[in-house]
Amino acid sequence: MKINNKIFLLFTSLFILLLILIYFILKDRELKTLVLEDEIVKNRVNSLGKILDTKKLLLDNIAYEYSKNQAIIKTLKQKNKNYKFHEIASNLDISYFILLDNKKNIVYSEVFDTSSKEYMSISNNIRYFFEDGDIEKYLSKSRKLKFTTFEYEKLMFSMVKIENLGYIFVAKAINADFLNELSDILNTYVSLLPSYTLENTHKESYGFKYDINREEKENIYINIEVNDYLNDNFYLFLKMKRNIYNEIRQSNKLLLELFFASFIIFIFIIFVFINKIFTSRIEKISNTVKSVSKEKDLVKNIELIYDDEITYLSRKMNEMFKTIYESQNENIKKERDFLQSVLDSQQHIIFITDGTQIQSANKKFLDLFKNSNSFMNNIAILDNKTKMSLLNVAKTHSSIDKPAKFTINNSEEKYFVFDISKVEIKKYIVCMNDVSMYNKKIKELENKASVDELTSCYNKNTIIDYCKYWLNIKDFALIIVDIDRFKSINDNYGHFIGDCILRDVALLLKQHLHSDDLIGRFGGEEFIIAVNTEYKNLKRIANRLRVLIEQKEFFYEKYNLRITASFGCTYCTKEKDFDDYFNIADEALYKAKNSGRNKVILK
Ligand code: GH3
Ligand code: MG
Ligand code: MG
Repeated sequence: MKINNKIFLLFTSLFILLLILIYFILKDRELKTLVLEDEIVKNRVNSLGKILDTKKLLLDNIAYEYSKNQAIIKTLKQKNKNYKFHEIASNLDISYFILLDNKKNIVYSEVFDTSSKEYMSISNNIRYFFEDGDIEKYLSKSRKLKFTTFEYEKLMFSMVKIENLGYIFVAKAINADFLNELSDILNTYVSLLPSYTLENTHKESYGFKYDINREEKENIYINIEVNDYLNDNFYLFLKMKRNIYNEIRQSNKLLLELFFASFIIFIFIIFVFINKIFTSRIEKISNTVKSVSKEKDLVKNIELIYDDEITYLSRKMNEMFKTIYESQNENIKKERDFLQSVLDSQQHIIFITDGTQIQSANKKFLDLFKNSNSFMNNIAILDNKTKMSLLNVAKTHSSIDKPAKFTINNSEEKYFVFDISKVEIKKYIVCMNDVSMYNKKIKELENKASVDELTSCYNKNTIIDYCKYWLNIKDFALIIVDIDRFKSINDNYGHFIGDCILRDVALLLKQHLHSDDLIGRFGGEEFIIAVNTEYKNLKRIANRLRVLIEQKEFFYEKYNLRITASFGCTYCTKEKDFDDYFNIADEALYKAKNSGRNKVILK
């Protein structure tokens, strides 16, 4: 993995870690706000309880005060329903004022609607409630808050007993006025909730059970259960603004945004910084080392920028490259010199090639060819191609049977065979063996084997081979020449003179034949001539030769000699074997001898 990627990975993980940390810190802040909110709610409920308690105390006091009131006692004793009590109680701003006798019969009742400021009559339902119900439990023995419901109206009440006379019931309706008053004191909206079921969060404060509803972001709803003596419990609910919570949330959001922004700026700066002073330079070093290991070229220099450890490393590497390069060069030079001296010490011509050009050569090579151009000219002639291949030429002429002919200094001809060794891919050591002397000897031997030594004509085997070869490719005239009475020449003038005559007859015949005709000594004083001509010319040519010999004067020492020869001729086509044609010509010669010699007989 590249360093840049590693750094990127490091910062990403750092970022995620920090993000998680910050998330938990902010979440904790939010949770603490909720706890604080819970505390505030608890205080608020407590305050509500205290206010209600004060109201209840007021009701208790009113009930207690009127229990001592002589007018009330009188009313109860006389059961005087006509007593206008409100003249005393009207300024009390209470909703219900009910006097009951010992038997729980309502002696006197007043219902004061505080909103309309009117007195209303009490319903029969309420009357029946006091008569049938167990009102002893309503008595204000403790300071516990007491609530009940009459005619769907929620009431807060107090009830006292006047010994032997009856009861006083004082209640205040929890109506809009009452709730407004509570709201004003608490600085929190308070309202009535006829039916509700407390949710999971059951808390308790001032004897109230309540739960908190946080569904809305802006407001918090507190539902308080109120104990109803008569009906099912009813509920008060408070609506509070969530100022702290919202402020904290807002600030959390801001903090998170700030964190993101600053982190991104931080990362960017760090990246640019690290990239400039660290990774890009490390990359340069690693690229240089890579290219050195690939190209085997040590002439490299790493750029130095700052004065730090990386620069130190770069400088040391530059020095190392230089040292290695120098020592390598020295070693290479030594090795090259050594190899050159080895090559120069060799007897043969040696050169190194990539297959097309000469890369280096030994002293022998330069002594002979002076430069590689003259050598390559010879190769071009041998390869006879526009895009010549030195290696192909060398391969073609690697056997002694097929030496390559070189012309040295535009005159001298030399023959070479090549010995190729492959050193590595596209590198060959070629050794050139000079086989000129050997070649000359071979040529001489070849010549000797095919030529008659005395007459320099082809010998018997060679002329027969040539004639057989001609028979395959064309028609030709076959002439056998036999010198007449040659034995007597030997006998009379000696063997040496005989030899001279044989040599000169052959020379004479050769001189008067075309260059593409063949002449060979068949043995003794007998010659075979193959003439590349048509049948119609045969006899004329043979006669011309016969006359030539007949008229030739041979001068040797003191002798002036003349000879004749007999000619047996035939014309060879592809119809028969050469042996058959030879026999026919021989028969013709025999006939020429028998018919007086110095004759041409054609069969
Ligand atoms: P004819 O007219 O019937 O051909 O008679 P001829 O004497 O030529 O024939 P014969 O075959 O009887 O003799 C050939 C002679 O050629 C015998 C031999 O001494 C001579 N002779 C053969 N080879 C050589 C040679 O190399 N040198 C010399 N000087 N003489 C040779
Ligand atoms: Mg003969
Ligand atoms: Mg003869």
